[in-house]
Amino acid sequence: MIAPPFGEEHEDLREAIARFVARELRPHADEWEDARWFPNSVFERMAELGYLGLKYPEEYGGQGGDYLHDAVLVEELAGCGSGGVAAGVGAHIGIATPPLWKFGTADQKQRFLVPAIGGAKIAALGITEPNAGSDVAGIKTFAKRVDGGYVVNGSKTFITNGVRADFVVTAVKTTQEGGHHGLSFLLVEKGMEGFSVAKKLEKMGWHASDTGELAFQDVFVPDENLLGEENKGFYLIMANFQWERLLMALGSVGSMFNLLDTAIAYAKERSAFGRPIGRHQSIRHKIAEMAVRAEAGRAITYNALRLFYEGHDAIKEVTMAKLKTQRDSFQQADDTIQIMGGAGYMKEYGVERAARDLRLGPIGGGTDEIMKEILGKQIGL
Ligand SMILES: Cc1cc2nc3c(=O)[nH]c(=O)nc-3n(C[C@H](O)[C@H](O)[C@H](O)COP(=O)(O)OP(=O)(O)OC[C@H]3O[C@@H](n4cnc5c(N)ncnc54)[C@H](O)[C@@H]3O)c2cc1C
Repeated sequence: MIAPPFGEEHEDLREAIARFVARELRPHADEWEDARWFPNSVFERMAELGYLGLKYPEEYGGQGGDYLHDAVLVEELAGCGSGGVAAGVGAHIGIATPPLWKFGTADQKQRFLVPAIGGAKIAALGITEPNAGSDVAGIKTFAKRVDGGYVVNGSKTFITNGVRADFVVTAVKTTQEGGHHGLSFLLVEKGMEGFSVAKKLEKMGWHASDTGELAFQDVFVPDENLLGEENKGFYLIMANFQWERLLMALGSVGSMFNLLDTAIAYAKERSAFGRPIGRHQSIRHKIAEMAVRAEAGRAITYNALRLFYEGHDAIKEVTMAKLKTQRDSFQQADDTIQIMGGAGYMKEYGVERAARDLRLGPIGGGTDEIMKEILGKQIGL
C-alpha cells in the first residue's frame, strides 16, 4: 500500500535504498559501532548512487528530486542497524548542506555544495555551544569584523560529523547585541589556522557517529565564507528547523516499524510454558500497542510532511510529529527489549543499541520541552 504523500516513484526509490542499506550498510553496523566510527567511503558510495543529492538540482550534481525523495532515504536509513551512521549521513544531507543550497552564493555552491553532493567533502552544522543549546540566542562564539573577513573565537560542542567534517556551517555572533540579533553564519574549513577539534565525545548511543567539540582561536574566515546576510543568521536557522524535525520524525517512524517486525518475529519463534510467547495475552497486547504506536507515528508524520511539502505553514504539525515520535520510538525499543527478555538486553540482537540510539530523539533537534513550548504558543497560551 502506498501512503500519501508518497507515490509509485518514491516506492521504487524506497526499494532500491532498502536493498543498498541491507547489502552495504547493515552488515557493517557492528564493526562500525565497535570502532566508534564509520568510514568516509560510506559518503562516497552514497554519492555514487546519487543519495547525497536526491533533493538538489542537477546543476550541482544532484538528482533534481525534492524533499519527498530525501524523506524516503531517511526512513530507510533507520534500517541500517546503527543510529550513528544514519545520524552522520543525516547531518550532512539534512542540516548542514540545506543552508548552502538556500542561502549560498554561486561561488559557495561550487566550492561546498557540489563536493558535498559528490561525497568529496563532508559537512557539519555547528550551532550548539557548551553554554547554549536550546537557547540558541545565547551563543557566544564571536566573529570580529576585520579587513577582508572575520576573526572567530569561541567553541562549539555536540557537533555531529564534527571530527571528520571538511567544513562546518558555523553560527557566530557578529554584534554584541543580545537576543536573536547579530547572529551570522560562516563556513569554517578544516585546516584554517586556529580551528581545531578539541575532543571526540563519548556518548550513550550513536557510537559510529563522531560527535565533536570544536575550538576556534583567532580563526581568520574570509568574507567569501559568510553564508547568507550578516546579522540575519537567525532566519537561516529557522529556515531548516521544520525539515530537521521532520527528518527526525521519519527516522523514528522507520525505527518503530523495524522494532515491531523484530518483536513479532521473536514472539512467534520463542516459546515459554508450552507455546510461543506471542500467544500469551500480555505479550500479544504489548505488540498490538506497538503496532498502533508505529501506525500513529506514521500518520502524524506523513501528514506533517505532506503539509510541509505543499508549502503550508506546518509548524504545529511538524512540532507535534517530532514530539510524538521521539519518545514513542524509545518506548518501542524498550517494549521490544522486554518482549525479548534476556536476549533483548544482549548486544547481539541490536535492540539495546536501538534503545540507546533512539534516546537521543527527545533531546536533539529541539528537546521535547521546547516542542511543548512551541505548541503552547501555537495553541495560543
Ligand atoms: C549526539 C548529539 C548530536 C548533536 N548534534 C548536533 C549538531 O550536529 N549540531 C548542533 O549544533 N547541535 C547538535 N546537538 C546539540 C543538540 O541540538 C542540543 O543538545 C539540544 O538542542 C539541547 O541543548 P542542550 O543539550 O544544551 O540542553 P539545554 O538547552 O541546556 O536543556 C537542558 C534541559 O532543560 C530543558 N529546557 C531548556 N529550555 C527550556 C525551556 N524554555 N522550558 C522548559 N525546559 C527547558 C531542556 O528541554 C532540557 O531538558 C547534538 C546533541 C547530541 C546529544
